[in-house]
Amino acid sequence: MGLTESSHGEKRSMIVVQKYGGSSVATPERIKAVARRVVEKKREGHDLVVVVSARGDTTDELIDLAQQITQYPPEREMDLLMSTGEQISIALMAMALRELGQDVISLTGAQAGIITDEVHRKARIIDVQPQRIWQELTAGKIVVVAGFQGINDKGDITTLGRGGSDTTAVALAAALSAECEIYTDVDGIYTADPRVVTEARKLAEISHDEMLELASLGAQVMQLRSVEYGKLHGVQIHVRSSFNHNPGTIIREGSSMAEARIVRGVAFDRKVAKISVAEVPDRPGIAHCLFSALAGNKINVDMIIQGVNRDGINDISFIVARDELEGSLEICRRVAAEIGAREIYHDSNVAKVSIVGAGVANNYGVAARMFGALAQEAINIQMISTSETKISCIIEDRQVEKAVRSIHQAFELDN
Ligand code: ASP
Ligand code: MG
Repeated sequence: MGLTESSHGEKRSMIVVQKYGGSSVATPERIKAVARRVVEKKREGHDLVVVVSARGDTTDELIDLAQQITQYPPEREMDLLMSTGEQISIALMAMALRELGQDVISLTGAQAGIITDEVHRKARIIDVQPQRIWQELTAGKIVVVAGFQGINDKGDITTLGRGGSDTTAVALAAALSAECEIYTDVDGIYTADPRVVTEARKLAEISHDEMLELASLGAQVMQLRSVEYGKLHGVQIHVRSSFNHNPGTIIREGSSMAEARIVRGVAFDRKVAKISVAEVPDRPGIAHCLFSALAGNKINVDMIIQGVNRDGINDISFIVARDELEGSLEICRRVAAEIGAREIYHDSNVAKVSIVGAGVANNYGVAARMFGALAQEAINIQMISTSETKISCIIEDRQVEKAVRSIHQAFELDN
């Protein structure tokens, strides 16, 4: 195996950070299977850091448990509670590895040196201090680390947001100059959700940017933040299944060159809703008034469209997350009175379908081809937005699967 130089200067074997998600460690049998897989890698001559998530639905169950005690659980206590899920996993994983004769140690996020800011429930990693991990690896041990958790400068346990174990793994890979493998229950990143498009094809490679777009547009394979972190620190990430040995998808820079395609994938998001503020006066400050009120309430908006209208009057439409619709409408109604808007419409029977690819902006005919695929199925487009790397359309929710299949075919993503 290739030798690398650690930050301490001594030669050592290549470090591999492997992350196993909740479904991969859901039962004792699966934990044992993962342990065997870890040992296989170790036998290839690598140093191993294994990040694990909470088993199965443990995190959801812990949240549910808190909800049965109080409607407003203190966030610090929530973090303490939720972090226990991963601690169960590391202890069991360490036992399974020991059972296979391995020298192993489990570490909590704090012990592994994952330092975060103070924001409970969605803390950001601000530093990784991996001295303890170096020590244990140097002593020849496999190091098992609890994902999803860190410690802030008060010494309190924090968590990194749902799906945060991915970010733990990527951050450790960056700090240790290691390879990063994310093991999950799917085979990799596909051109579309294989449950919707049977011809969907697994991508051999994808760039961080394309992956970020796909993830933010609805493809739920990795936590968005982990991909951002990977991009920022140049971490190459191999996403693959823990249930087989098939090669997965490699996320790395400049990879779209390798598969010179304009469009890499089709994503969809059904958890959206549309709001239209009708007939607002066409004058400076109106949009600011509306969107600063929404921002003040931490509501994310997307696909803002202002119609060019007649007689000094505009319509403004935008998209919010469906579970924030009620809160958004309340704010809009309040602001409508202030800015003299005539009416507010909303529609939660909508979905967003998007194409993603590094070449979308630089190639003619891409938008036309996407709209053609929708037209062919008689699907009406309610809103459109474009950027360098994507085109998104809002359509009726019940047509979304048909839309994804038609677009997938139009761009010949199946071959
Ligand atoms: N257990 C946490 C969650 O379910 C973190 C993770 O799975 O990555 O969100
Ligand atoms: Mg999970």
